[in-house]
Amino acid sequence: GYDDNYLHENAYTETVLLSDAFNKMLERMKALDDSRNEFVSNVSHELKTPLTSMKVLSDSLLTQPDAPAELYKEFMGDLSEEIERENKIINDLLSLVKMDKTANTPNVAMENMNELVEKILKRLRPIASMQNIEVVFESFRPVNAEVDEVKISLAITNLVENAIKYNKEGGWVHVSLNADHKYCYIEVADSGMGIPEESVEHIFERFYRVDKSHSREIGGTGLGLAIARGAVVMHRGAIKVYSQLGEGTTFTIRIPLTYVR
Ligand code: ADP
Repeated sequence: GYDDNYLHENAYTETVLLSDAFNKMLERMKALDDSRNEFVSNVSHELKTPLTSMKVLSDSLLTQPDAPAELYKEFMGDLSEEIERENKIINDLLSLVKMDKTANTPNVAMENMNELVEKILKRLRPIASMQNIEVVFESFRPVNAEVDEVKISLAITNLVENAIKYNKEGGWVHVSLNADHKYCYIEVADSGMGIPEESVEHIFERFYRVDKSHSREIGGTGLGLAIARGAVVMHRGAIKVYSQLGEGTTFTIRIPLTYVR
């Protein structure tokens, strides 16, 4: 009698709770599925754009057999640029996929962060000097941190590349390295164009660009910051941005000195 009823009610409550949990799970799966579909459609679009240009360029050469040598040269130059762009998108996508796999733990080792940053800046200074941009490195202390050198270098490289790309002729990029007892801090500040307030919350999204046409001209894929964030999150770190339109932008990365397993 009583016990039977009690059991019955309990089973009922559990069923309701279960179906609640099930619905929540379904919602989550659907959200994941939506974001994956959006990603796949973004990827297809991004990969198709250079391909379309390549097709147009090669077809127009094929249909005029007596095209002058100059035209050939010009179109071949354009073709080569589109191939380079396609290559960049594919490389960025591969990096992103590597970061995205949460199961994929970073390959950490104790690294001298001062040397790591110096190495990156040495590679990027020639690009900066083409636009008369000065890259300054300020190190507050020697810092050793347990990081995946390849992934953290990629994150810092993307930030410094952006600081150069979205800067102005004769501007500056200021990179600083510091640490406290727990974290390592890397700051990348620039004297560039800044980011509009309404865009700041979106810049870490895959394929997001403030100014699509301008970014394309500059050679962006919209994946650089998603990659940077992926690498930092993988190290249980944080990435922050502060920007003032027309004045410049500062990105700060914070990474634990010892990898949290
Ligand atoms: P992209 O390949 O287009 O540079 P990112 O993911 O690296 O893609 O950056 C996303 C967008 O954020 C860029 O297109 C640009 O509009 C903006 N952005 C990133 N870094 C800076 C910066 N230092 N100054 C101004 N805008 C920036």
